Amino acid sequence: SKEDVQAFFKKNAFVLFTVAAVVVGIILGFALRPYKMTYREVKYFSFPGELLMRMLQMLVLPLLVSSLITGMAALDSKASGKMGMRAVVYYMTTTIIAVIIGIIVVLIIHPGKGSKDEFMKQSKIEDISPADTMLTHHLRQLALSLQFKTKYGKRIVHVTMTVNDSVFNLTNLTEQITREEVIPIPGTVNGVNALGLVVFSMCFGLIIGNMKEQGQPLREFFDSLNEAIMRLVAIIMWYAPIGILFLISGKIVEMDDITEMGGQLAMYTITVIIGLSIHAFIILPGLYFAITRLNPFIFIMGLVEALITALGTSSSSATLPITFKCLEENNKVDKRITRFVLPVGATINMDGTALYEALAAIFIAQVNNMEMNIGQIITISITATAASIGAAGIPQAGLVTMVIVLTSVGLPTDDITLIIAVDWFLDRLRTTTNVLGDSIGAGIVEFLSRHELQAKDVEMGNAVLEE
Ligand code: ASP
Repeated sequence: SKEDVQAFFKKNAFVLFTVAAVVVGIILGFALRPYKMTYREVKYFSFPGELLMRMLQMLVLPLLVSSLITGMAALDSKASGKMGMRAVVYYMTTTIIAVIIGIIVVLIIHPGKGSKDEFMKQSKIEDISPADTMLTHHLRQLALSLQFKTKYGKRIVHVTMTVNDSVFNLTNLTEQITREEVIPIPGTVNGVNALGLVVFSMCFGLIIGNMKEQGQPLREFFDSLNEAIMRLVAIIMWYAPIGILFLISGKIVEMDDITEMGGQLAMYTITVIIGLSIHAFIILPGLYFAITRLNPFIFIMGLVEALITALGTSSSSATLPITFKCLEENNKVDKRITRFVLPVGATINMDGTALYEALAAIFIAQVNNMEMNIGQIITISITATAASIGAAGIPQAGLVTMVIVLTSVGLPTDDITLIIAVDWFLDRLRTTTNVLGDSIGAGIVEFLSRHELQAKDVEMGNAVLEE
């Protein structure tokens, strides 16, 4: 009936808008491509999309801090310890499975054949453009910094950002910007060391959780801060489809000609897609079902907006606010779980990135005609896992931390330039896999922690009524 249709539409409005945004964005992008816009015009055109990106990024740090602190403070240290263990076991298991899938897929399909010269010729990249040279230069600098880091166990990143990325600098739109890509500092979000912030917030939350009445004002303060930010997120959600539309169409307008792509690079892209699909459509849902006995695809349906936002922004950090909304509102995951598991997951748990880095390293070896032995493959799995943990949830961070993987087995770091042409696309897919991994993790940890959560509800007495 008419009411049913209306009710359905109302309930699913966001999802419908978001899906429509992707479809319209793709159509618009391809329709505008023949007009060959200048770089500047593309930037103007992408403005509504960039605005969404900045709005989400603006919320990430306060959201991360307030949710972690309130999440930790809501449980006693024993319960949060158990929950933390479960989360860490889940992160490690799924990341390692992802790496293994990446390795198996690339070894079976073997997308990199022949010599590097052949590859360059196929991909038409004999002449590296000035922008690419800049990129190589940055990567080389970073390689040195990261090697230094592993050798001395210190975190030293010498790369400074050339464009102030943390403030939405309006003048950037009116200036003629050179076509230089900004290489992110791999571990940072808005210039802040994400991992450090996570550790600090967890410790702080744990302390104020144990402070009894004295901690009450702080608990209330961060609770209220968290609530206020989530309300901002609710407003941004209305704008998100418009932003996504322009993020996607803008990217399609400016991307390189796909027909230029060489056979090996195309095969590589397909290999990555297959690997990520196995992980996202088989492994993660299978794991969810095996543990909870619930339908994983119903759970995933609730995540559509977050997954599409990840696809549009290629940043799991920027997607974090939306991931929260989806899990808490659509999937009704307990806030004590999401507040704790999601920020940590977005920072360290990146299945897609881990899979990608291992796969890409072996592909580069194949292109260089180098066979990796078992020892080297194990080294690649370990460093790919580490590199995915070290990468922040920002666009193309995984490409940069791949330097760690390549240097660990003596592959040329410059060869990252070989796969740069397709990275913008593959980055979106691995980011979506990353967000899916975090979200399914929240569902699984909630299920495993149900007894602690119930016990806490009983202890609090009125907590159940409040919900
Ligand atoms: N862009 C990815 C993310 O935000 C990280 C990566 O580059 O792999 O999750």
